[in-house]
Amino acid sequence: MRPLSYARADDPVAAIALVAAHAEGAFLAGGTTEVDLARQDVLRPLLLVDINHLPLDDVEDLPGGGLRIGALARMSDVARVPAVMDRFPMISQALVLGASAQLRNMASMGGNLCQRVRCGYFRDVTSPCNKRDPGSGCGAMNGFHRGHAILGVSDQCIATHPSDVAVALVALDAVVHTRGPGGERAIGIDDFFLLPGDTPDREHPLGHGELITAIEVPAVPMARRSVYLKFRDRQSYEFALASVAAAIHVEEGTVTGVRLALGGVGTKPWRARRAEAALFGQPASEDSFAEAAREELAQATPRPQNAFKVDLARRAIVRALNTLMDGEAR
Ligand SMILES: Cc1cc2nc3c(=O)[nH]c(=O)nc-3n(C[C@H](O)[C@H](O)[C@H](O)COP(=O)(O)OP(=O)(O)OC[C@H]3O[C@@H](n4cnc5c(N)ncnc54)[C@H](O)[C@@H]3O)c2cc1C
Ligand code: SF4
Repeated sequence: MRPLSYARADDPVAAIALVAAHAEGAFLAGGTTEVDLARQDVLRPLLLVDINHLPLDDVEDLPGGGLRIGALARMSDVARVPAVMDRFPMISQALVLGASAQLRNMASMGGNLCQRVRCGYFRDVTSPCNKRDPGSGCGAMNGFHRGHAILGVSDQCIATHPSDVAVALVALDAVVHTRGPGGERAIGIDDFFLLPGDTPDREHPLGHGELITAIEVPAVPMARRSVYLKFRDRQSYEFALASVAAAIHVEEGTVTGVRLALGGVGTKPWRARRAEAALFGQPASEDSFAEAAREELAQATPRPQNAFKVDLARRAIVRALNTLMDGEAR
């Protein structure tokens, strides 16, 4: 049996100091990832610092139409904020389509960004896994990998990033605000998620004791009409096989603005920049949507069991854009 200490912090400075001072310390928010993994022996914290009482759970309007979402705001609360539902429906929809009602009531936004992969080999400490135990190999590569990634993979790791709301946040160019022993910083969300490369054990650039304090979403007027679609093996309580966050702006039948990001297919929440570039200035037609989706997925590296995701993701992009165009003259 391993001893595990618990401490409760009431302000961010104390929380950061407690974790920073303990090599095996970790923050504890809703605990829906951290506690599972500690029980499974995948993570071995010796000190959990409870941050649930920090005053970081507000969702505030920013001048100009953006939002500042506190790191400890719960998924269920954020999904119901009128400003989120009105100005950023893709965020609200991505949150509601994630996990279960009970989990969403506990799970925090900061914890959601830091959740770990759902790869079965990562969670089974008797299996090889470069992410959990660097250099030990990858059980999924030639094992069961139907749910694994086809974009951003390396020869070290092909695990899919599991978050839904991160996909919407990537599409919107959100910024992650942190505070740590070295001070405060702001990290563009696309840089917050790291590709596995040769270091799959590093999933984000946070230093030890660095606390996410907030996520800022800039004003994106076209996001008022945005959508998050999620495709999975069953309609609730399941991770995405493919998902899409999409927003589009069309003037006189021509695409003049578009945001697209994919979930369930990338080793990080995947901004579909090739598809965005291909669509800009093109007619807002199903043919253009299909061509843009083809260009994005041309860079996919599927393996035998997950090759179906290439077509699934292509179709998902087209479906999302068609959904947005429904009711609008093309
Ligand atoms: C059965 C099940 C199904 C799920 N399905 C989905 C799904 O469909 N879609 C989806 O998106 N998610 C899903 N999830 C994941 C769930 O959303 C995450 O577990 C949750 O968001 C994590 O938040 P938490 O507050 O519980 O984090 P915790 O478990 O408390 O922490 C998670 C990690 O983040 C760190 N951390 C927490 N807060 C901070 C902070 N402010 N700064 C720095 N580090 C921090 C912790 O140290 C820990 O390493 C599912 C989870 C379960 C158990
Ligand atoms: S895919 Fe990644 S997380 Fe899964 S076994 Fe391979 S290295 Fe580990």
